[in-house]
Amino acid sequence: MSIITKNLCKRYGEQIAVNNLNISIKEGEIVGFLGPNGAGKSTTMKMLTGYIPPSKGEGNVCGLDIVDDSLAIRKRLGYLPEHNPLYLDMYVREFLEFAGKMGGVNKPQKRVAEVIDLTGLDQEKHKKIGQLSKGYRQRVGLAQAIIHDPDVLILDEPTGGLDPNQVIEIRELIKKLGKTTLLSTHIMQEVEAVCTRVMIIDKGNLVADSPIEDLANITGEKHHVNVTFGSAISVKELNQLNEVIQVMDKGNHRYKIEVSSAEGRKSISHFALKNNLEVMELSSENVSLEQVFQNLTKHVDRL
Ligand code: ADP
Repeated sequence: MSIITKNLCKRYGEQIAVNNLNISIKEGEIVGFLGPNGAGKSTTMKMLTGYIPPSKGEGNVCGLDIVDDSLAIRKRLGYLPEHNPLYLDMYVREFLEFAGKMGGVNKPQKRVAEVIDLTGLDQEKHKKIGQLSKGYRQRVGLAQAIIHDPDVLILDEPTGGLDPNQVIEIRELIKKLGKTTLLSTHIMQEVEAVCTRVMIIDKGNLVADSPIEDLANITGEKHHVNVTFGSAISVKELNQLNEVIQVMDKGNHRYKIEVSSAEGRKSISHFALKNNLEVMELSSENVSLEQVFQNLTKHVDRL
């Protein structure tokens, strides 16, 4: 495992920002860390990167303890903090060389050239950071995070405040880097676009940890399939299929079918094949990740 926590807690005075967090992330996974503002995402990331100590519990990154080995962890880990603090008066290359030296890179100049190429900063490399657009500043932030070729990336809202094109570019870059990544965001589409797994945190508690495609099952969201057959069918037989829960007849051989899982679509298509039925339309109504997120993080105190 690249990242493991065991009952990790952070308390600020009376407030519990992170409460008994148990997570594990395998090598190569890109995991979305989703939650409303104030849920505890940044606090968790700061503990994992060794910037703040936990109040209780344990954390381990690349086999190293987040308290005892926090300096060693920084060599194995790249961190893009929230708000991406950069030295605006420094030139891009100068800053990255500085970050490289801080990260213990042997030949910083060679490595700086590599990361400039990788993050698409070639056109901007002679400029001062303060002269760059927000999208390019995020690239500089990512470049400093990977300068020492870390095994794990921790990215706190890497696309926050960017325009839609810049968002896409940064997401593509994260995928291209292909590192074990924990990425925080409050944007559902971000997770769908970049991650294979999602963890949802709310008020310091982990409320979901699931492959994206299974998330709907956690909150009991309903899956529906819309189908139009070319001719009349036996609704009774359709109802008897394992995955089918309910068939709603919409007229003209059109049906809206509630199924128990995303697999239901397949069994309806087998049913059509077996009965030699023409299928004019067959589509799944995808459960929106947004709906799932709202269900998991809605509170009585917000209504
Ligand atoms: P998120 O990143 O999910 O928006 P944070 O981890 O920043 O959430 O914050 C979690 C909670 O801890 C919030 O209620 C926040 O106000 C509180 N918090 C964060 N940092 C501090 C701090 N240094 N002192 C006191 N409270 C803090």
